[in-house]
Formats: sequence, structure tokens, C-alpha cells
Amino acid sequence: MEHEILHGVKDQKADHPADRDTPAGQLSRRILSQALEQTADIVLITDQKGVIEYVNPAFERSTGYTFDEVLGKRPGLLRSGTHDKAFYDRLWSMIRKGLPFRGVVVNRRQDGSHYYEEKTITPLVDESGAISHYVSTGKDVTERAKAQEKLRELAYFDSLTELPNRHHLHQLLSRAVNQAERHGGEVAVLFLDLDRFKQINDAFGHAQGDCLLQKVARRLRTTLREEDTVGRSGGDEFVILIQHPRYPQDVARVAQKLLDGLAEPFALDGHDHQIDASIGISLYPDDQTTPDDLLKAADMAMYQAKARGGSGFRFFSRDMEAQVLERIELERNLRLAMARGELTNHYQPQFDLRTGRLAGAEALVRWIHPKLVMIGPDRFVPVAEETGDILAIGQLVLAEACQQMSAWKAGGLHLGRISVNLSPRQLAHPDIVTQVERLIDVHCVGVGTLVLELTESALMQDPEQAAKTLAGLKKLGVTLSIDDFGTGYSSLSHLRRFPLDCVKIDRSFVNDLPDDPTAVALVDTIIRMARNLKMSVIAEGVENEAQLLMLREMGCEGAQGYLLGRPMPGPELTDNLAGNASALIGALGV
Ligand code: C2E
Ligand code: CA
Ligand code: CA
Repeated sequence: MEHEILHGVKDQKADHPADRDTPAGQLSRRILSQALEQTADIVLITDQKGVIEYVNPAFERSTGYTFDEVLGKRPGLLRSGTHDKAFYDRLWSMIRKGLPFRGVVVNRRQDGSHYYEEKTITPLVDESGAISHYVSTGKDVTERAKAQEKLRELAYFDSLTELPNRHHLHQLLSRAVNQAERHGGEVAVLFLDLDRFKQINDAFGHAQGDCLLQKVARRLRTTLREEDTVGRSGGDEFVILIQHPRYPQDVARVAQKLLDGLAEPFALDGHDHQIDASIGISLYPDDQTTPDDLLKAADMAMYQAKARGGSGFRFFSRDMEAQVLERIELERNLRLAMARGELTNHYQPQFDLRTGRLAGAEALVRWIHPKLVMIGPDRFVPVAEETGDILAIGQLVLAEACQQMSAWKAGGLHLGRISVNLSPRQLAHPDIVTQVERLIDVHCVGVGTLVLELTESALMQDPEQAAKTLAGLKKLGVTLSIDDFGTGYSSLSHLRRFPLDCVKIDRSFVNDLPDDPTAVALVDTIIRMARNLKMSVIAEGVENEAQLLMLREMGCEGAQGYLLGRPMPGPELTDNLAGNASALIGALGV
């Protein structure tokens, strides 16, 4: 068969040795035939109509078809559907003109799988100049092509989550913006950042962190519609593009849906974890008009959502820019303040309402800025909590409070307790028990003297871990108090699993005493329940005598507030000053 074709395959040079019917010609034909049979290249020869007349063993190996199966058929049986009609039209128009075609063609094997062939199709012309055959020779370059495809994919997709990466997201956003520009319409950019992801990573390790990111990516993808885009822009940040939202409310709804979707617990290391996120939203063309500015605006809005405590979304607004800049400035200045020693404690006295005596003091951190005078902790503690600087600040506050305790003692002022606020981040820190132990040792703080004030939210972030930490602190003789009580969601009985000693009634309730019946009922209930649970109660934010009187009547044991003493520098807290407040409490009568 092949010999016949070889006869037919005539070069324009008619006196080729293989054409001569001589012994040399026969030898030459045999070698040519063996070459075709043995070459690693895929060879396929058709007649001028494209009907297959010959394929070599390399073809059989690559395609899975045998010679007999393809004989008389057309190469079209190899089509994979990868190339469009225009591709084949171009190919045929070239070779019909007698020009060779070169290119990579994706074909289909008999088993349905695809292979890449880098091929050359050469038209053969007979003596009359007419095309008699087409010879296709090619190499199977599937491995190489797959590797290239993988590379291309890597350049566009994040390998962990398989979502579009930052670079690709930018392209997709540009495309969406261009389209909206041409046809009118809007684009919404959502910048989503997981809350406290770093803590999860630190606590469970990177492998678990990665696993969580994959799960989050899948959750986000399934929450969104097919036509919305979600990509990972890095770390725990995701970007969502929504094309043609009709109203901003629609976008808000999507944002809420994403947050709700993430709120469903994730299994991590055998435990359920709830993930919160903060989302910032910017809109084309209302907020910004270029992809970069849209992303920046959404990022800024996300930042603001975080500053508000996370677990929510915010739309970008113009004045946000100023706020964000201010906040960045605050972060930077706070670091400088720490380095320059501008942070110091003030102390607010706490009194025993049964005896009228000064019972203790709460340490409250202050930033004494040389120019800005004094910056309150309400402004910088939340920032420090987020950046993690609170860990260093908390250490300073604790150490200074312990030191102050010794100084008071040396000066003859004997306080039973020193309260220090412990932030959620500090509580979650794996070394917190050891750190407190060291301070107690160094400053010889007596058993029960150091009170740590914790918020419900700090305990509820990881209740199991918190319970372990609290048990460790209790062992050191630390008194544990729940701060701002009543503002969270948990009831006191909810908090029973923690070894708490004291409840601090939030000042917002105290503020509404004695006239607001709801506040009265609430404070009364808290005091009763605390007593049942054998916990002591202290009220904060006591500003007038009516509040003080009512609290005492209800059986509240301790009080703290501007009425009795404002926060002040340590040396100013003296017996003398305490005496005034004591007299005030005494004057209320028993
Ligand atoms: P907090 O723990 O609830 O502290 C009580 C806050 O109420 C203090 O505000 C105090 O000055 C204020 N206050 C006391 N008596 C009265 C009163 O009669 N009326 C009113 N309206 N307010 C009163 P401050 O010092 O600005 O602290 C605010 C918050 O900052 C604290 O609330 C606490 O959550 C946080 N903070 C302060 N110092 C530290 C610290 O060293 N570490 C941590 N983690 N947080 C701190
Ligand atoms: Ca407190
Ligand atoms: Ca408080």
C-alpha cells in the first residue's frame, strides 16, 4: 500500500532516485518506506480530496486508531471541537493553494481524550502541477502544551482557591468597566476581608488556615450567581464583581448574603468555627471610574467596616477618604507614642458601698500626646486591638499598674484591688497566663489583688480556649471580672462555665437609673442573679447621688464613677481624696 503511495507521491523533480526503476531506486524506496514506518513523528497522507490513504504506526500509537479503522475516512474524525470553523477554513484555503500549513492542532483520540499535535501539512504536486496528495507530519506535544496551559492558568488563577488571582481580577474588572462605559450600566466592587483570620492561622497553623480559605472560597462562589465574579486578591482578601446591579440595595443584599453565608459554621480541626468578614463596596460610575480607584475605594470602605467592629459591610463615601487617612495617621502615631513612652495609666477609684471605703482602682490607659494633649482610649484602643499593638500596650498597662500598686503601698495607701482591662486579643494570646504570672512574681502582687476585666465578646470568641486561660489565671490567684455587663447577648447563667468572680454593670444602665423602669429592672436582675451565682457586683459610671443610693438599696456592693472620683494619675490617688468620697457614701445613710 505504502509503496503505491510512494509511487504516487511524486516530487516535481521527476528524476528523484526513488522514482527510478533501478536497483538503487528500489533500495531508496525501501528506505523511505521504513523511515515512514519507524519515525516517531505522526504521518498521515490523504488524496487530493482529503480521504485518508496512509497513516504510520506513530499515528496509531498517538490516536489509538488502527490503519484499517481510518483508511478511507477523513481526518475530520480526529476533530476535538477545540478549533472553530474559521480555523479549518484557513487551513484548507492554504493547502489548496499549494502552500504548507504549520501549527498546533488539538485533536481527539479514539478514547475521546485530546492530544496536541504540532504539525505540518504539505500538499504534494504531480508533474502537471495539480495537487495529488496532502502529507501531514507532526509531533505529539501534549505534555508540553499541557505544561504551558498550566503556566497560563497559574498566571491567572490562585492555586489555593482556584479563583481568579489579583492580576486576573484586575483584567476582569477592566473589562466590566469598559463594557459598562460603552453600553451604560454599573459595576459594583466588593472587597471582602475575613475578620481575625490571623488569629485562626496562629492558633491552628497554616495548613488549617489554607483549608479554611478554600472552604471560604467555595462558600462565596456558591452564594453568588453564576454571572458574578469572585477572586482572591491575596491573603484573606476576596474581591467580588457584580455587573449591572440595578440598585445599590441589590448590592447591599448580596453583601449581606455573603456575610450570612460565611456565618454558617466551618468545620476546622474537628470543631465548628464561625467566620465573620468585613465588606467594603464601591460603585462604578458613582464613586470612581477606573479599576484601580474602584478597588482602592472598596478597600477603604472595607477598612471602615472593620473599624466599626467588623462583621458588616459599608459603602464607600467621599468623606471616608479623610477618615481613613486620619486612621492610618493614628496607627502610625500610636507606634511612635509607644516608642516615646507617651502611654501611661490613670486610675479611677472604686468604693465598697457597704463600708464606704476605698476598695480598689481601675487602671485606664491614657495617651499623653505632647501637642494633642490627651487622647482617650476609646479612640486608640480599638485601633490597637486591630493592629495587634494592644498586646504590647496591654503589657505596659499591666506592668505599670502592678508597679503603682507597690508605690501606693510604700506611700501608706492600702488598696485591696487593682483592676486592669484585658482585651480580646490579649486573652486569646497563648502566653497570657505566663506573662501575668511573671508580673505577679516581679511585683509581689498578693493573691486576689489583681483583677482582670474581660468583656463577654472576648470570652465568646473561643469559649473553650477562654475557659482554659481563665482557669490558668485563677490558679495564679487572679480575680476575674466581667466588664460592661448587659451590653452583650449572654445571660449570666451562660457565663457560668467561666470561673468569674465579679460582674461590672455597664454604665449605660447605670446612666438610666433611677427613672427608667427598664434599667431599674435590668440592674436589679443582674444584682440578684450575680448573688445567686456567688459573684460580687460593681456598678460603673455612677454620676449622681440618686444612682448611688438606688444601687446601694438594690444591694450592689461596689461603685465607680465621676461622682466618686475621676480617673487620675497614680500619685494623685490619696487617702485624702478617698476620704471625700467615703464621706459622701456615708452621708447617704445606711
Ligand atoms: P471601660 O473599661 O468601661 O472603662 C470605664 C470608662 O468609663 C473609662 O473611660 C472611664 O473614664 C469612664 N468613666 C468612669 N466613670 C464614669 C462616669 O461616671 N461617667 C462616664 N460617662 N464615664 C465614666 P476611658 O478611660 O475613656 O476608657 C474607655 C474604654 O477604653 C474602657 O472602658 C476600656 O474598654 C478601654 N480601655 C481603657 N484602658 C484600657 C486598657 O488599659 N486596656 C484595654 N484593653 N482597654 C482599655
Ligand atoms: Ca473596664
Ligand atoms: Ca466598663
